[in-house]
Amino acid sequence: ATPTALMVGSGIGAERGILIRSGEAIQTFKDVKVMVLDKTGTITRGEPRLTDTYAAPGIEVSQLLQIAASVENASEHPIAQAIVAGAREQGIAAEQVTDFRSTGARGVAGKVDGESVLIGNRRLLEEEGVEGLDALDEELSRLESLGRTVVTVALNGQALGLLAVADTIKADSVAAIRGMHALGLHVVMITGDNERAARAVASEVGIDEVQAGVLPEGKVDAIRRLQEQYGNKVAMVGDGINDAPALTQANVGIAIGAGADVAIEAADVTLVRGELSAVVEAMHLSRATFAKIV
Ligand code: ADP
Ligand code: MG
Repeated sequence: ATPTALMVGSGIGAERGILIRSGEAIQTFKDVKVMVLDKTGTITRGEPRLTDTYAAPGIEVSQLLQIAASVENASEHPIAQAIVAGAREQGIAAEQVTDFRSTGARGVAGKVDGESVLIGNRRLLEEEGVEGLDALDEELSRLESLGRTVVTVALNGQALGLLAVADTIKADSVAAIRGMHALGLHVVMITGDNERAARAVASEVGIDEVQAGVLPEGKVDAIRRLQEQYGNKVAMVGDGINDAPALTQANVGIAIGAGADVAIEAADVTLVRGELSAVVEAMHLSRATFAKIV
């Protein structure tokens, strides 16, 4: 395509909230064979709500929520926002947190009243030597099989209880994935969330392949493997939370939503409206830009 054609293509895109960084991106996009979708914030709205609280024996639910909300208040993860909002609805305000840190995208840690708090998925807490996890396992499995994302809260190395959140699927995700199939794409969902929650969402929206329990570095490796398998024709859509490096690795990185700035920096394409169907529009646009001109 000529530079003019590319400019016209990206001009039409901009009108529809599809920002394409370069002519090269349009060119690469039209040949994509695999579409990798992050789950949280991409297929789902990324606005989960707190649905269940489960305190270990001898622990008050209000204490569990207070401690969790205090630490999560410092995190920008959608799960964190759900916990803080859920606590607030029950009249519990976040307390001051110190030494806050994200622990390798699987959870968060900090100090409340000088005591150490760790919140995240079970595997992370187990690796950190938290005690009392087994007593929560039955409830954890029950909640996960309902498709919920469950995090465990620990205080000074002791498990205090579980918090479950549930997200809703975006209104246009099913139609968008159908549109991707119509374009001949292989659609893969990749997520750091647990296998059960991942499968529940995947079957609802018609995903071809699921990779669950994947850490941010793992997301990069997954993209590399797909690139080997499909000859460097891999696009990925994500919101930038825990997936920015994978967006960079993909042949076309697509940031969705007004989301994190880091996503926009990593992306070749930015979808301003946050709707997955814009990916399908963008693909049609990149193909049309070339069909007309070449
Ligand atoms: P996804 O790939 O679906 O976008 P992430 O990679 O962002 O999910 O998160 C993966 C998992 O890490 C979550 O399901 C949760 O168990 C844990 N996690 C991440 N951030 C937090 C947080 N702020 N608080 C508690 N758990 C978290
Ligand atoms: Mg995400």
